[in-house]
Amino acid sequence: MTESATLAGLGEFGAVGLLTRGLVAGAGVELGPGDDAAVLQPGGARVVVSTDTMVEGVHFRRDWGNGLETGRKAVAAAAADLEAMGAEPWALVVSLTAPGDLPVTWLRFFHQGVLSECELAGLQLVGGDTTRGRDVTLGMTVLGRLDGEPVTRAGARPGDVVAVRGRLGWAAAGLAVLTRGFRSPRAAVAAQLVPEVPWGAGGEARRAGASAMIDVSDGLLADLGHVARASGVSVDVEAARLEVPEVLRTVAQATGKDALGFVLTGGEDHALAACFPAAGVPDGWSVVGRVVEAGDEPAVTVDGRRWEGAQGHDHFA
Ligand SMILES: [Mg+2]
Repeated sequence: MTESATLAGLGEFGAVGLLTRGLVAGAGVELGPGDDAAVLQPGGARVVVSTDTMVEGVHFRRDWGNGLETGRKAVAAAAADLEAMGAEPWALVVSLTAPGDLPVTWLRFFHQGVLSECELAGLQLVGGDTTRGRDVTLGMTVLGRLDGEPVTRAGARPGDVVAVRGRLGWAAAGLAVLTRGFRSPRAAVAAQLVPEVPWGAGGEARRAGASAMIDVSDGLLADLGHVARASGVSVDVEAARLEVPEVLRTVAQATGKDALGFVLTGGEDHALAACFPAAGVPDGWSVVGRVVEAGDEPAVTVDGRRWEGAQGHDHFA
């Protein structure tokens, strides 16, 4: 196979063979890839399902990140939703749409990226499908196992504290850099290309008694807004409790943006934000605010005031 080989040359069966090579069925997987469907055995646990679609030019660019980074990001973004329910990532099904001229090297790197992030997350790739289309489109369906009650967005109560696990604002800072044609600071760019999901923290939060949880995909304020509305409460974030790392200040200065704005409204880091009874915040989580009674309607405030500026990412904006 030469460097210039494309998906068209490889063919559908070749692509499927490449994507499923060397897979061994692990815990709870009775039948992995290779038959008409995979067979899973949840063993009495609840099964949690979510799907995520990433489209080239909308969610990723092949001139920004390579196949490995794109594969890792696609898995991370999908499986973070399992963590946000308090579930344990279990199985992944990948649907890949790609043009015939997609280099096979990109596909090889994508495959490596998928498998390496699956290993971090605890996921097993159990099946998939490939088809031809104009843009690279990744459909990532993930299943999780849940031994207990799910942690939804709807359980936050006045008196709870809001805590965060993971990074905030880094991916948005990376996007600000990349859209201006720069590739540094490298740490911010890397965060945009591959989010650092706090794997396992969702289950920890559930076992610690989290009342509500969400992964920060659209921005902290926007995502806490989802929790506030689902729970019928308001949330107040204390700006002084938020860490604003040096790299965010550097990018903010270079791009004319607000470093705190990255932290409050930047999406795609897939940190976890959860509400806990005040005495029950587990180790490793940072308290950033509190849950209060809703006024006229559920709201998210910063130091008691409405945040002026963009509230986060809206895919249909
Ligand atoms: Mg989510």
